[in-house]
Amino acid sequence: MNIDEAEIGKFESLASRWWDPEGDFKPLHDINPTRLEYIAERTTLRGSKILDVGCGGGILSESMALRGADVTGIDMAEGALTVARLHALEANVELEYKAITAEALAETDPQTFDALSCLEMLEHVPDYPSVVKACATLTKPGGALFFSTINRHPFAYLTAVLGAEYVLNLLPKGTHDFERFIRPAELAHAVRSAGLEVRELVGMHYTPFTRRCRRSGDLKVNYLLYATKP
Ligand code: SAH
Repeated sequence: MNIDEAEIGKFESLASRWWDPEGDFKPLHDINPTRLEYIAERTTLRGSKILDVGCGGGILSESMALRGADVTGIDMAEGALTVARLHALEANVELEYKAITAEALAETDPQTFDALSCLEMLEHVPDYPSVVKACATLTKPGGALFFSTINRHPFAYLTAVLGAEYVLNLLPKGTHDFERFIRPAELAHAVRSAGLEVRELVGMHYTPFTRRCRRSGDLKVNYLLYATKP
């Protein structure tokens, strides 16, 4: 299976931290409104069937469900899913969470989802093109796909690894492995090879000091790729 047990282990050990807006996943909470808006501008959330691949504790999944989407979140960290389910129950949000890989779900449920998100996940798997391919299979023709990850650029090493993990203690040390970061051209290649059309690449600029996140043309650190399935 296309899973890195050590990576899953990192997320398991942090399971209880998912919904603390001041905790280990603070940056994901801070960037969520920006990425949610980006998705909502490009796909109808209300009434659509959406798959969130590598959903973690459900920060994005839940926010899409709150906008009326019929969301399924999948992840391989059981602890994260337990926290996600409990939080949805508490918040009275209806959505489904499953422990399955995108590849396995693609075998049983091809062409099922109107839209798919796979955010901040590809840099944690051994073979990301395999995930991209499964995502393409899972989406209905005409559907929209959203991927986000971190660029393998020296500036990303400075900010996302050294800055965030070692200087600011914003993320636990070892959260990110620079070698696993993906250049925009590489991600675009994997997306096209999966039969998808690349529609847009956009930078996501996050300033930890102000906790502000905005879209930008700068793809050196975090970026989003929007694709459609013909
Ligand atoms: N997408 C969420 C969480 C990102 S953290 C968000 O942006 O808010 C990365 C997540 O990917 C973790 O929850 C981790 O458990 C999950 N993950 C890593 N490898 C995976 C795999 N092979 N299959 C499914 N999920 C995986």
